[in-house]
Amino acid sequence: MEEKIIMDCHNHSNLSPDGENSPEDMVKRACELGITYYSLTDHLEINKFYDEEYLYEEPIKRGSEITPALAEKYADKIHMSYGIELGQPLQDMKLTERMLSSYKYDFIIGSLHMCDGWDDFYLLDYSKVSADMLMGLYFEEVLQMARWGEFDVLGHLTYPLRYITGENGIQIDMDKYLPIIKEIFSTLIKNDMGIEINTSGLRQKINKPLPDEYYVALYKELGGRILTVGSDAHRTADLGKGISECVMMAKRLGFDSLAFYKNRKPEFVKI
Ligand SMILES: [Zn+2]
Ligand SMILES: [Zn+2]
Repeated sequence: MEEKIIMDCHNHSNLSPDGENSPEDMVKRACELGITYYSLTDHLEINKFYDEEYLYEEPIKRGSEITPALAEKYADKIHMSYGIELGQPLQDMKLTERMLSSYKYDFIIGSLHMCDGWDDFYLLDYSKVSADMLMGLYFEEVLQMARWGEFDVLGHLTYPLRYITGENGIQIDMDKYLPIIKEIFSTLIKNDMGIEINTSGLRQKINKPLPDEYYVALYKELGGRILTVGSDAHRTADLGKGISECVMMAKRLGFDSLAFYKNRKPEFVKI
């Protein structure tokens, strides 16, 4: 018997270009793990939408149709909701607005994987570009996203560090970004939005959650109460990983509940 895992609200099926398993295999695995609250959150990368390699609309449409059916099929085992990870929403507002009004989502994670005009942090060559300059652009754009406010929780606040520090060993003086990070948190709080603890960093070289305890504590201190936790698994094998550890961290920081979204509304689940 594997340990009970309360939730996994960030993960990808093969409806994402980089996901391996079908939505049904993902929910079956979530049931096996005893996950109580589960959101499937496939990618909708607004700026890569028309990329020849991957057209996002068809899989999003399919996800919006099959997820309610799966939720019903597995209703006696798990609470399941339909989410998306909305990447770079401000980089094509017309498209973002159309996608948000065309399909029904339970939960929207707002993420920034690449700054406007730049490639994904994962793909950049840091011997040719200043990581520090990009961090500045990153937090500026995340702040704009928080002000825009049409998503539920901010995905992996410290995403660039996964690559800049984790993969490339470049240290960033994060203290100088503290004022803007505080502003991002305050804006999210004011707009009744939340943050996630993304456990994927625990499986990667950076070896800490995104964001780590320091920032989650800061969010709490500023009045943040909406918190979700997700593995960012791209295959069944990674589902639920690191969740228990991060739930313990949330408790230690004084959170007594986590949020699970249905119909874009948080339901607070005791931890
Ligand atoms: Zn992401
Ligand atoms: Zn993701």
